[in-house]
Order: sequence, then C-alpha cells, then structure tokens
Amino acid sequence: MELETVPPTAKGPAERFTGDVYVDLVHGPRERSRLLASLVRFTPGARTNWHAHALGQTLHCTAGRGLVVTRDGTVIALRPGDTVWTPPGEEHWHGATDDNLMCHYALLEGTGDGDGTTWLEPVTDEQYRQAQAG
Ligand code: MN
Repeated sequence: MELETVPPTAKGPAERFTGDVYVDLVHGPRERSRLLASLVRFTPGARTNWHAHALGQTLHCTAGRGLVVTRDGTVIALRPGDTVWTPPGEEHWHGATDDNLMCHYALLEGTGDGDGTTWLEPVTDEQYRQAQAG
C-alpha cells in the first residue's frame, strides 16, 4: 500500500461551472483501476453546467444542501448522507442551494481516454430558480 499523492484543490473552471466550486481529486485512474473520485465543494448558488457521463455517476452528499436536476424537470434535494445515481448519458446538473454550501463526493469510471463527461451549456438563473422552487 501507499499514501496517495493528490493534486492541490482546483477551482472549477468557468466553462463548466457557475459560481465558486472547488474540486479535490481523491483518486485518479491508475494501473487497472478506472475509478475517478473527487470531493466537490459548491458555494451557495454555485452549480455545474448541464452535462452527462458516459458510464454514469454516483454522487454522495457529505454536507450542506444541494440539488440534482434532470432535463425532464425531476429535482432531487441533496442532504448529507444522500446518494444519487445518474445513469449513462442522462443530462443533468448538480449544485448548492442559493443559501447553503454543499459538498459531495463524485464517483465515476473513466473511459480510457478521459473521464467520459460531455459538458454542455450553463444552467440559466431561471432554470436554477425553478429547480429550487420545485
Ligand atoms: Mn454529474
């Protein structure tokens, strides 16, 4: 065994996130493991762009209050201890509520030539408002 060396906390880039989001990689692909695991911290109002994962994604909330939203308008409110699975190819976004931080682990499998995530357009303020109202 070995103590893993992980990169420093990275700011979520503006072309993929709205607001301030910080990502700590916990585990990257190595040897035969394709697991990608990150602890992601969203400040109030911050969220991902719309996106989809080629092999799906598991989100596990560790702190705060958050949302996971799909194109059909389904909203799951995230609280600490909650786990949400987004299946392969399903377009969705996740983030904090307007008035709380939110932290989740994001777990997914890499595809061999990347993390398999297709990034799409930002979530509009109106989409974000509607998700919180619903
Ligand atoms: Mn996702």
